Amino acid sequence: MTVPTVDTKKRLLSGMKPTGNQGRLHLGNLEGALRPWVKLQDQYRMFCFIADWHALTTVTGVPESIAEASRNVALDYLSAGLDPERCAIFRQSDVPQHAELYLLLGMITPVSWLERVPTYKEHRDAMADYEGGGASGPSYGLLGYPVLQAADILMYRAHAVPVGKDQAAHLELSREIARRFNHLFEAEVFPVPDALISEDTGVLPGLDVDADNKLRKMSKSYNNAIFLSDTPDEVATKLKTAFTSPNKLRKTDPGEPEGCAVCQLRRIYDPDGFQAQWDECRSGARGCVQSKRETTDILNAMLDPFRERRARYASAPAELDRILARGAEEARAFADDTLRLVRETMRLV
Ligand code: ATP
Ligand code: MG
Repeated sequence: MTVPTVDTKKRLLSGMKPTGNQGRLHLGNLEGALRPWVKLQDQYRMFCFIADWHALTTVTGVPESIAEASRNVALDYLSAGLDPERCAIFRQSDVPQHAELYLLLGMITPVSWLERVPTYKEHRDAMADYEGGGASGPSYGLLGYPVLQAADILMYRAHAVPVGKDQAAHLELSREIARRFNHLFEAEVFPVPDALISEDTGVLPGLDVDADNKLRKMSKSYNNAIFLSDTPDEVATKLKTAFTSPNKLRKTDPGEPEGCAVCQLRRIYDPDGFQAQWDECRSGARGCVQSKRETTDILNAMLDPFRERRARYASAPAELDRILARGAEEARAFADDTLRLVRETMRLV
């Protein structure tokens, strides 16, 4: 048996699903995931994947091109500053080894663990109302989603996974599966991965509000997002219709920056200057039109370097192919080592 790769650095696994809006990632994804990842890529040996199989867990018909969406995710990874020289960037489906580990881990995962996962319950309940897919209920793949996620993580015997607060439950299951495997087969095959919850990222609000006029998180699913790949004009148009203070109809009316999408983005992207804008918004010295224009400029200046990097990779599709191929090759080599170890531990060989 080949000795598993010896690393001096601890390993980290991160990834995102290529779903919604052709897989294009937004400012929430940037602040909650991509920026923290970029900071971690030196400290850890990083495997950074595009979870294209996961995009199929809730499919109810012919999906948009997942391949196209995956390329967009890759472009967003690169535009955010993930460096293919320092981390392996690859598509899950290019490393079919994940499917074998998924199957094997499925053998030791109690169904009761999976049925308790909140996102499964939510999807199941939502699908009960869905006329097309509802009749037969959620798929086996949806129930098994956390096992596939565990396989993604444990494949690289990852020591850590950067997660948003909303994803802690999924990682908990991966940790349980790692512990259970090690315990059942009396071998320390999988490190129990730690959740790396970045301290400085809260939830970034989107451009709209819920039924109670409260800001809600920026999300691909809510159509309230600014995408990393938006053009300056698209950003301007989105800001023009963004939610502000409902009672501030004229410039002189007092605004409420706490509940205003534009003021919140200003606070995040202009930490030194936002206070003056907030004060003048409250006092009626400044109107929403001006605030929106200024915030548009701030966002566009922030996004410019991302756009430049994205354009560079987008205009060189063969280069992107090479990056993904190289990433997958590195991932497959590591995955083969892990699978050899797992097969041996499970007495398959
Ligand atoms: P979906 O609507 O399909 O759930 P999403 O927009 O919520 O998509 P995810 O794919 O669920 O995005 O999340 C990818 C990563 O981005 C996760 O690490 C998640 O914690 C982070 N993230 C998503 N939205 C935000 C947000 N508004 N603020 C901070 N982090 C976010
Ligand atoms: Mg989400």
